[in-house]
Amino acid sequence: MGARVVITIALRVRTLRTPCSSLSGAASARRLLMPARETEAIILKTFPLGEADRLVSFLGRSSGRVRGVAAGARRLNNRYGSTLEVLSHVQIWYVEKETRELVRIQQAELLESFHKAQSNYGLSTGLAVISEISELILPEHEVSEPMFRLILLATREVERTGDWALALSYFVFWTVRLGGWLPRFDRCVACDTPFGSKAAFYDAHQPGLFCEKCRRPGMKPLHLEARTLAERFAGERLDRVEYENSMQPSVKELREAALAWIENHVERRLTTRELLETT
Ligand SMILES: [Zn+2]
Repeated sequence: MGARVVITIALRVRTLRTPCSSLSGAASARRLLMPARETEAIILKTFPLGEADRLVSFLGRSSGRVRGVAAGARRLNNRYGSTLEVLSHVQIWYVEKETRELVRIQQAELLESFHKAQSNYGLSTGLAVISEISELILPEHEVSEPMFRLILLATREVERTGDWALALSYFVFWTVRLGGWLPRFDRCVACDTPFGSKAAFYDAHQPGLFCEKCRRPGMKPLHLEARTLAERFAGERLDRVEYENSMQPSVKELREAALAWIENHVERRLTTRELLETT
């Protein structure tokens, strides 16, 4: 909350300062350029911009989520190579301009390659969901070390295991937990009855888990096994959880519930979600 207020004030100061600047042309551009910054980053999304450039959204470890332009990134033999792929782990150098919201990306170097996951259609679907959610929930310019580590861990595991099922379930569960939107998993939000070994129910229209008696039409079940898996996720690192076939239904149930709570929080449907059913 505090950080957001500071950012708003800083932006206001910038808007006020701009009209006072009487510099012109190249001199003005030079003076308004801030010193170059450098950060470890995860590429969240890129879009084509004009004929040769790319608009890039990245989560900097020390900068938070930032959007910038990589000039010439769409030209053949450009200096960015494969560094600007979705969820690439990079070192990035950029320059902020006082008058513009977009930074100018100068250089990016690959720290870690996720080439297998990025180039395989099925695996890249899992990465696309991680990317869309991160882009939607992370406020601009707010550092988030836990989310940085979570995205990196989930992407690494998709790459290492060649499967997104467990990694994605873990990612969405922890996203909801870190966001503070995780409901109680032991008792009904409406009547306080403990679930015990019975199924709990949820939907995307309200946060919370409901008992058999309070459930409303259209709600989906979250069985004991999926709730137990959530407890395991809460206490164990993803790369230490062994994925067994018997976990498949719980992994999916927990993922679907967490996706519903994320959609409830961001108040929109995730566009990448339906792709999951096709891979
Ligand atoms: Zn109830």
